[in-house]
Amino acid sequence: MTRRAGVLGWPVAHSRSPAIHEAAYAAAGLEGWRYQLLPVPPALFGETLRALPGAGFVGANVTIPHKEPALAAADLATDAARAIGAANSLSFDGGRFEADNTDAPGFLAALGGPPPGRAVVLGAGGSARAVAWALRAAGAEVKVWNRTPQRAQRLAAELGVRVVPTVEPGGLLVNCTAVGLDAGEDPFAALPLESGGMGEWEVVAHLVYGDAETALIRAAREAGARVVDGLEVLVRQGALSFERWTGVSAPLEAMRAAAGHAGRQIK
Ligand code: NAP
Repeated sequence: MTRRAGVLGWPVAHSRSPAIHEAAYAAAGLEGWRYQLLPVPPALFGETLRALPGAGFVGANVTIPHKEPALAAADLATDAARAIGAANSLSFDGGRFEADNTDAPGFLAALGGPPPGRAVVLGAGGSARAVAWALRAAGAEVKVWNRTPQRAQRLAAELGVRVVPTVEPGGLLVNCTAVGLDAGEDPFAALPLESGGMGEWEVVAHLVYGDAETALIRAAREAGARVVDGLEVLVRQGALSFERWTGVSAPLEAMRAAAGHAGRQIK
């Protein structure tokens, strides 16, 4: 019997998750597993979700705009998913829907070790919530800046972190804004960062990913900071879902290669 997983989103055609998971099945020697795109508009999310277990699905990743509805539809949820208010990974066990948020532990795994004691998170959307929650749970002092301060204040009140109007370099910087999606955009014009100050950060992480490294990651790397890019975060959150569904250790190198990470210089 084919065991299936997939990624629910709208739109979702751009997702690298099918390539990453299919490469993982092959590298781990798992036969009869398939991972597919599940393009589902919001109005059909609930009924599609309920049909998945009967169609051989053991779980599904969830992306924009379904992360909050996925949590709401679940019978059980991890502490991370509840605190963050969104789920990106669903498991279908014995007819029950279990919700998790692997963006949070996936981000910590991508850091490759304990976070520095001080962290600044830029952004107040879904990924900023996951990263801020993960860093606080890992013991870091977390400050949040967002273009729209009211949104940062709501995040801070709910997750127990601080809002800052300006950013002092030092420790860990995580860009969780959409700045960088447009490769031509200057991150130093859009964000409260000085291009000359990038070397003062110990680690710089950027959740946005593309075929080339982002301008922020390039500036940080060239200034001597350790960098963590969005593809590593994508691979690590996917690896946690893979392990949950298959019970097998994730073959990270194969997943990185399928994500397009292979060959990219990471310090
Ligand atoms: P989201 O919920 O839509 O939040 C977007 C954030 O970006 C908000 O804080 C928004 O600020 C800010 N923003 C947008 N345009 C801006 C601009 N021009 N200047 C300053 N701030 C701006 O999105 P999300 O889910 O958090 O995702 C953010 C990015 O991370 C996405 O581009 C996504 O591709 C990437 N991501 C990657 C991974 C991964 O695995 N690598 C996982 C999740 C997300 P306002 O509140 O002021 O609008």
